[in-house]
Amino acid sequence: MERKKILITGGAGFVGSHLCKRLLQEGNEVICLDNYFTGSKKNIVELLDNPYFEMVRHDITQPYFAEVDEIYNLACPASPVHYQYNAIKTIKTSVMGAINTLGLAKRVKAKILQASTSEVYGDPEVHPQPESYWGNVNPIGQRSCYDEGKRCAETLFMDYHLQNNVNIKIIRIFNTYGPNMNPDDGRVVSNFIVQALKGNDITVFGDGKQTRSFQYVDDLVEGTIRMMNSRDGFTGPVNLGNPGEFTMLELADKIIELTGSKSRIVHLDLPKDDPTQRKPVIDLAKKELNGWEPQVALEDGLVKTIAYFEDLLRLEKNLI
Ligand code: NAD
Ligand code: UDP
Repeated sequence: MERKKILITGGAGFVGSHLCKRLLQEGNEVICLDNYFTGSKKNIVELLDNPYFEMVRHDITQPYFAEVDEIYNLACPASPVHYQYNAIKTIKTSVMGAINTLGLAKRVKAKILQASTSEVYGDPEVHPQPESYWGNVNPIGQRSCYDEGKRCAETLFMDYHLQNNVNIKIIRIFNTYGPNMNPDDGRVVSNFIVQALKGNDITVFGDGKQTRSFQYVDDLVEGTIRMMNSRDGFTGPVNLGNPGEFTMLELADKIIELTGSKSRIVHLDLPKDDPTQRKPVIDLAKKELNGWEPQVALEDGLVKTIAYFEDLLRLEKNLI
């Protein structure tokens, strides 16, 4: 088998670290590029001994050059707490990161995949969301730096494809969870699990009736690689998500049950522009990606994720 040279931006992050590992296991050479804003060396330390793995500290708002066959563009903070910390930097990362990686793909004739998001649908008025839905996004709200940055990146990908014939692939990722999430990430699954394990209050925002569809990271990685290898001319965008839909209260109850925690649920203010519902239509992914569909049920994925955080918290305790 031919060894491909693959660049993964955001490779030290939650999803990126799983992708690095899987692509190395498949016999490829991987360059992992990251500025460590939300990612961590801990996520990729086990890969550092592999001679086909290279770690590069770099900020993707600056151009980067390397001879590669494929690029997975994942660099961008994904949790509202982190992407709102420096909103201008977030939109620069999406837009300039897209321009820099697309420029590289054009120059070295690499295939390039963009990690877009279900956030391009905003607070959706169409439910569930097919790829043909254009979305309902506030352009000037506190989530806009992320949502509009990702929408602009999709536009840039399509324009480089149409104007310069760059071989592009776009995936729209729905809420994904699993091991290697940062315990301080701020997203709901890691928050609830860490709170439950520490016996702290579980912080449900608003009435907790808003819904999300949660995908286990292995299912996303499988779909992402299938998309990179999909037929020539198929650019997407394609939804990658688990259609199982849950309210935040249901999620909190499940996590309390699985951890056996004595934590109680408290309600905090709902952040502005928080989408009320979200659920993917995955017919296109099934059709184009050899019948891809999520294999891991929420409960099974949560059990694995809880085990990961238990180990992590035990380790942190022993270090103190
Ligand atoms: P993450 O925050 O764990 O990972 C993002 C990585 O990008 C981190 O390692 C971070 O340090 C790096 N990064 C950020 N800005 C950078 C910059 N300017 N230059 C170089 N590196 C930079 O988040 P994740 O959940 O792993 O998300 C990965 C990608 O998938 C993101 O593009 C995100 O928007 C997308 N996505 C994720 C989800 C999800 O639920 N996990 C949902 C939709 C989309
Ligand atoms: N949420 C919550 N408590 C938390 C963190 C998040 O109730 O401690 C809610 C949040 O308001 C949203 C949902 O969980 O309705 C998912 O939030 P997350 O930040 O994980 O992802 P996103 O809103 O980007 O889908």
